[in-house]
Amino acid sequence: MICPFCGENNDKVLDSRASFSGYGIRRRRECLSCGQRFSTLEQIEGLEPTVVKKDGSRQPYSESKILRSLAVACSKRPVTPEQMNAIAGEAYDLVNNSYKHEITSNEIGELIMERLKTLDKVAYVRFASVYKDFTNPELFAEEVKKISDESGK
Ligand SMILES: [Zn+2]
Repeated sequence: MICPFCGENNDKVLDSRASFSGYGIRRRRECLSCGQRFSTLEQIEGLEPTVVKKDGSRQPYSESKILRSLAVACSKRPVTPEQMNAIAGEAYDLVNNSYKHEITSNEIGELIMERLKTLDKVAYVRFASVYKDFTNPELFAEEVKKISDESGK
């Protein structure tokens, strides 16, 4: 596997783990040239998880995309990379457990919001503001108010 950080093809597998649904194998690797760690995912060909967008278009499920949006929402917040990985893992299993390995972007968004809500309210509001179409600023203000009421501030 070519290292995404330094481009060398020299790595060792630290551990292999089946995803919860059993439809994928995740391998944690370490590059022996630069020491960076990364994961690879092996899955059944023809059963690639797919996300159905709001406009009905389909695109391959992308874990890195989910992790990126989580990283943005959790920037400078007390949510650890392990917690973000756990959420992404849950999303992946949700897709694989669904009919035809298809899921709507809506279902993924709801799952992520639910998890963030319990981890960090600020990260939750940030994610929700990007994810939900807050075209109406009053809706957004309402959501923020709900959160602060719930946390008792
Ligand atoms: Zn490397």
